[in-house]
Amino acid sequence: MSATWDLSSLFHGPDDARLDAEIEAANRAAATFLETYRGRVGALDAAALAAAITSYEDLDEAARRPGFYAYLLFSADTQDDAARRLVDRTREAALGVANAVAFFEIELKAIADDAFARLVADDALAERRHWLGLVRRRRPYTLSEPEERVVNRKNLTGRGALVQLFDELSGSLRFRVDDRDLTGEEALALLYEPDRELRERAFTTFLDGYATHGIVWTAVLNGLMQDHRLECELRHVPDPVLPTHLDNEVRPETVDAMMAETERHYHLAQRYFRLKATMLGLPQLKNTDLYAPIAEPPARMGLDQARMLVLDAFYGFDAGFGALAQDFFDQRWIDADVRPGKRLGAFCASMSPRTNPWVLLSYTGTSRDVATLAHELGHGVHDRLASGRRPLDHLPPLTLAETASVFGEMLLTRALLDREPRRDVRRALLCAKIEDTIATVFRQNVLTRFEMAAHARRASGPVTTGELGELWWSENAKLYGGAVQMIPAYRWGWSYIPHFVHSRFYCYAYVFGELLVLTLYRRYQEEGPAFVPAYLELLRAGGSEAPDVLLGRLGFAIDDARFWDRGFAVLTDLLGELEAT
Ligand SMILES: [Zn+2]
Repeated sequence: MSATWDLSSLFHGPDDARLDAEIEAANRAAATFLETYRGRVGALDAAALAAAITSYEDLDEAARRPGFYAYLLFSADTQDDAARRLVDRTREAALGVANAVAFFEIELKAIADDAFARLVADDALAERRHWLGLVRRRRPYTLSEPEERVVNRKNLTGRGALVQLFDELSGSLRFRVDDRDLTGEEALALLYEPDRELRERAFTTFLDGYATHGIVWTAVLNGLMQDHRLECELRHVPDPVLPTHLDNEVRPETVDAMMAETERHYHLAQRYFRLKATMLGLPQLKNTDLYAPIAEPPARMGLDQARMLVLDAFYGFDAGFGALAQDFFDQRWIDADVRPGKRLGAFCASMSPRTNPWVLLSYTGTSRDVATLAHELGHGVHDRLASGRRPLDHLPPLTLAETASVFGEMLLTRALLDREPRRDVRRALLCAKIEDTIATVFRQNVLTRFEMAAHARRASGPVTTGELGELWWSENAKLYGGAVQMIPAYRWGWSYIPHFVHSRFYCYAYVFGELLVLTLYRRYQEEGPAFVPAYLELLRAGGSEAPDVLLGRLGFAIDDARFWDRGFAVLTDLLGELEAT
């Protein structure tokens, strides 16, 4: 079977006249909004403010629609000039609207605390309390409007230039492995090859290539860390991680407890590494063996069979969950075919609760692709379940964003294991799931610890290349213990991680998301179908409350270390199952 999406419910093509009409309408609406509210937000009563927020929300949605369509067109065919031109045109239009209405949130933040408290106590704003809280939480760290504008402008040539240097230099690097010049992505893909020497040769060449430009990576990271430190000082932000916690809607104590608990379970990763060494017939793993295949890859699976498998697993969990996923095929909201020019990777793009999301992937039939299909459809189901929310409350923060996607993958793994009699295939399935969890929970914890340590060190002056390598090595050594030997070039392992440059402290959200799903899955294992309604309720909430509030409704206290323990229990079981297979 083939699956291409049908975008005609949005627009009829890059030349659809409705595109211009909608861009025009959004511009006019933004101008009217500006005229009506600029300089008056602080004087509105609760009912008038509620109306203003609704206009703001509608305006935002209308302004994003043409650009959303352009992005989908472009992703499906990056060589299409008309799509590319539309991306540029819609981006400019959306930026114009965003600039015109930026005053609204600034004025909301400027309202005095007591006046604001009276406003939000009013029932007229009941539905908006969460969103207003998000805006107001940044009040203590916000500068004046002209200062904010200066910071934004200077960031283009400051932070922005460093990020661009990182991207351009790392994108330009080629790595010579066995007489072939490889891109970074191609070189790293060799870590999944069965030939042990080849894996080590490839990774060493890759890291040595990065080491050649050590001065640049060190300068980029130092520049970004110092920039962030100075901006935190200007804004009176007490801790460099705090802005990320605000985005993620979690308290620092929650993250601390989660990370400490993760470290307490590093031994589980080590247990797996020792087991994998035995399976590969090695006395000890090197870190270039972590992703080595333990069996022949299984035969490729057609898309129709993958679709049936995933839908069966979802229907087995809950009929509604399965039906929502099936819609993506029936309504043609999914583009899964492999085509030249199609964007790499996979996504589920959400527009608004009033419009369906769209799933894109390039399905080639590997087991990784089947898992990706389950993952993205999980996102899709989450989006649809939250379709009763207001647009500003629709999408959850990063910490809750993977709640259905990773759960969907878990359902698929279980369904596959339950029907698979062959020992080597079962082992490969279990290894894939465990390795995925180790990479998402433990490795991301190591990355975050390294980043925190580097930022702390930067406070007392520039951090040298040698110190960065030392910090990286020691955080990794904690995870690997005596179970994995790191290759010498791995001292440079920090230098190619884009998250440190693009999205500071992003990685702990991966830990949170994956552990949360394992914990929820544990509850499902314990309670069976009785757990389903509570889980669906969590998804229906979308981004309408902070994670601790939503999970509290399920009886979870996320500041309690025992909460995270349940997630590790699932991993312990998987390890036991693998040992017994
Ligand atoms: Zn995802």
